Amino acid sequence: MKKVPFLTLEKAKEIIAQIPTPFHIYDEAGMRANARALKEAFSWNPGFKEYFAVKATPNPYILQILHEEGCGCDCATYAELLLAEAAGITGKDIMFSSNVTPELDMKKAYDMGAYINLDDATHAEFLERVCGGVPETICLRYNPGGSFSLGNTIMDMPRDAKYGMTEDQMAGVMNRLQKLGTKHFGIHAFLASNAVSNEYYPELAAQLFRLAVRLRNATGAHISFINLSGGIGVDYRPEQPACDIGIIGREVHNRFDQILVPNGMGDIAIFSELGRFMMAPYGHLVSTVLHQKHIYREYIGLDACAANLMRPAMYGSYHHITVLGKEDAVLDHVYDVTGGLCENNDKFAIERSLPEISVGDVVVIHDTGAHGFSMGYNYNGKLRSAEVLLKQDGSFRMIRRAETPMDYFATLDIGDFSFHN
Ligand SMILES: *Cc1c(COP(=O)(O)O)cnc(C)c1O
Repeated sequence: MKKVPFLTLEKAKEIIAQIPTPFHIYDEAGMRANARALKEAFSWNPGFKEYFAVKATPNPYILQILHEEGCGCDCATYAELLLAEAAGITGKDIMFSSNVTPELDMKKAYDMGAYINLDDATHAEFLERVCGGVPETICLRYNPGGSFSLGNTIMDMPRDAKYGMTEDQMAGVMNRLQKLGTKHFGIHAFLASNAVSNEYYPELAAQLFRLAVRLRNATGAHISFINLSGGIGVDYRPEQPACDIGIIGREVHNRFDQILVPNGMGDIAIFSELGRFMMAPYGHLVSTVLHQKHIYREYIGLDACAANLMRPAMYGSYHHITVLGKEDAVLDHVYDVTGGLCENNDKFAIERSLPEISVGDVVVIHDTGAHGFSMGYNYNGKLRSAEVLLKQDGSFRMIRRAETPMDYFATLDIGDFSFHN
């Protein structure tokens, strides 16, 4: 589908007059409508809950908006727990899915009353030692090994992944935890990332539902929820079909009725921990063209760089680019669109067909609402950008200011030096 920015040139100019580029901007109306569609798709399951993966967009204003739409938070670290707590989200509205967990982090999750998702069988004893007890409900992360396929396509290789535990280990730890006082269990697995397919969740669900039946039969334990985690992908490319959350919800429902209900396990709640699906399409990185150069290729140099959006440099990911005010112009020029890092992989687009671009044009890089700002870094002294919320009524609010050089230096013993900022 043609990718249309949620921002016009006129609106962008109004914002830029107050908040210089580059910045990430989020579309409140879009994210709310999407969260509602997800909720609707799983409304057949009375316990359904989405725990938004905080790492995707760790801004408390965003967490609060999603919370208003019924979402909790999926946290992996101490700082993410603090962020959720500061946004007023705590207790069973938190899923703590961490790995290589430090004591401090485990203790904080336990004290907040979060659902704790154990990445390994040895973490049961770790949890008991660090927290002085075990919670009444615990989630266990599963790794089936082998490869994970949809039809003839191998999506990922769980056997090479560091996460989760084997089925035998899960049964063993369920037995031990029941003796220590745990009464209910959750099951979690994350087997493919950015799966742009309506089949991913239903196939994962079927595998986890069958696993739940086997584990219940082997241990007698009560399984109260199944966490399908993240992984539903988005259509970064205009020619890609987007996932249809209505179909996904319906197909998971079918597997639920086929596998769990006949086994007397129809009380299980379905949880998700989506990050990308919740936010990626509802964020743009807005940037101004600083320079243009012609050598062996045509280059467009932006005031944003890979430190503001790492995915193209790190994964070779496609992000669509729209030049504001030239939405309908012919794409008769071919450019590499770059940032200013001293690294040649700092390219948002390589040999991309775009309209003719001039210095001063404002470009939108699409689908940066998840794993965009959050993967930012300070290499080359590049500073993190501002984040802006485009509200439902069309007004905007800065929800994080841009870093200044003094922020970048703040962790030095700053009095030992004099900076002339
Ligand atoms: C990253 C992550 C998610 C979110 O993944 P998306 O691909 O953004 O949906 C969910 N759960 C866990 C444990 C993760 O590490």
